[in-house]
Amino acid sequence: MLSLEAALEKILGGVQPLPDEIIPLGEAFGRFAAKSLNSAIDLPPADNSAMDGYAVQSADLVSASAETPVALSLSGSSPAGTSHDHIVRGGHCIRIFTGALLPRGADAVIMQEDTKPNPDRSDQVLFLDKVCPWENIRLRGEDLKQGADLIHTGEKFTAPRLNLLAATGMHRVRVFRQPVIGLLATGDELRKPGNPLDPGTIYESNQVSLSAFLRQIGAVPKIYSLVPDSLEPTCAALQTALNECDAIITTGGVSVGELDWVKMAFEKIGGRLDFWKVEMRPGKPFVFGRWKEKFLFGLPGNPVSAMVTFFLLARPALLKMQGAKDTSPMTHPAILAEPLANNGDRRHFMRVSVDAKGQAKSSGVQAAHILSAMSQANGLVDVPPQTTLPTGATVQVMRWD
Ligand code: AMP
Ligand code: MG
Repeated sequence: MLSLEAALEKILGGVQPLPDEIIPLGEAFGRFAAKSLNSAIDLPPADNSAMDGYAVQSADLVSASAETPVALSLSGSSPAGTSHDHIVRGGHCIRIFTGALLPRGADAVIMQEDTKPNPDRSDQVLFLDKVCPWENIRLRGEDLKQGADLIHTGEKFTAPRLNLLAATGMHRVRVFRQPVIGLLATGDELRKPGNPLDPGTIYESNQVSLSAFLRQIGAVPKIYSLVPDSLEPTCAALQTALNECDAIITTGGVSVGELDWVKMAFEKIGGRLDFWKVEMRPGKPFVFGRWKEKFLFGLPGNPVSAMVTFFLLARPALLKMQGAKDTSPMTHPAILAEPLANNGDRRHFMRVSVDAKGQAKSSGVQAAHILSAMSQANGLVDVPPQTTLPTGATVQVMRWD
C-alpha cells in the first residue's frame, strides 16, 4: 500500500497543465497565469495629489500656523481627470483634488482642513499649517515602474491582482484552460435527491459536494447519471465521460467487493491503473489511472472518505492541470482546545473545526459514515497511528473553506 506522499507524487508526476488560452481580465478571477506579465506603464502614471487641498511651494508656508496664517493667491484649479498647464509660482497656490495632476512648480499639497478662505480677499486662501516638501503627493512610478513584475506564471488571479492588472491597463490575459471533470456516482442503492427512497436505498450526495469542491478551485464539474453496479453500464459510463472530459472522478465501486466494477471497467475500456489503495484513514480504497492523456480518480463511495481523498489526492492534481504553482492546501498552525486521539493503526486525517482565534477541536464522531461531523469541519489534522495529541498542542490544519 502506498503512503499518501508516494501516491501524491505519482499523481502529480503524471499530470501536466492543460493548454493555455487568452481570456478577458474580467473573467480571470481564480484562474492561473500561463505567462508572467509586466507593467506597460508607471503606476501612478504621473505625479498627483493624495488629498483635496491646495498645491503650493512648501517654502512659502514655513511660518504658517493657526495663529500666524499665511495668505497665498489662488491662481487656478486642478480637478481629477483633466490635464492643464498651470504653474505654481512663489506666493501662489492652486486648488487641487485627490488624484488630480500636480501642477508644475508645486512641491507639496496641503490638505483643505489646514486652510480657510480669506474673508477679506476671495482671490486668496489662508494656510494654517506648514507642509513638508513632497507631502501629500503620489509620485509617478512610486507604486511600480514600467516593466515591473505584475504576476508570474502559475500564480492565481486574485481580486487584488485583478485590480493591479487593470490599473496598468491590462484587459486580456493568458491563462491555463480549466479542466472539465466528469462526476460519476456508482451504486445500485443510490437515488438522486428529489426522488422517493425505496427500502434499501439512500440519497446520492457525493456529486453535489465534489462539484462544489471542484468549482472552488476553478475546475468545471460535469455531472453524469447514476452508474449501476454492473460491468457493462460502468464501462459505457466511464467511456462516455472520458470522451467528454479532461478527467473523471468516480465514487464508490473501488473496494474489494465483487460488485466493485470501476477498476475492471476502466481496464476493459483500455485504461491503465497506476495504483490502488493508500495508507490513510478515511480513504484507503483510492484508485488512480490513465486513459490516453486523461485521468481517473476513483474515490471511495463513503461521502466522508470521498471528500477527504478528493481533498488530499485529486485536488492538487486538478490545480496542477490548471497550471497552479502551489498545489497544496492552505495549512496553518492551530491550538487544540481538547485532545485529539487516533487509536487506530493507520494515519488518520481527522476532521476539525477551527475558530477565528485558531482554536481547533474535533468536529464530532470521526467515523467515515458520520457526515454530520464532517459538515461542521473546516479542515483536517494528520494524526499519526496510536497517538493522542493533548489539549494545547500546536497542530497544522489543512483548510478547505
Ligand atoms: P462503496 O465504496 O461503493 O463500497 O460505498 C461505500 C459506502 O458509501 C456505502 O455505504 C455506499 O452506500 C455509500 N455511498 C457510495 N456512493 C455514495 C454516494 N454517491 N452518495 C452517498 N453514499 C454513497
Ligand atoms: Mg458501491
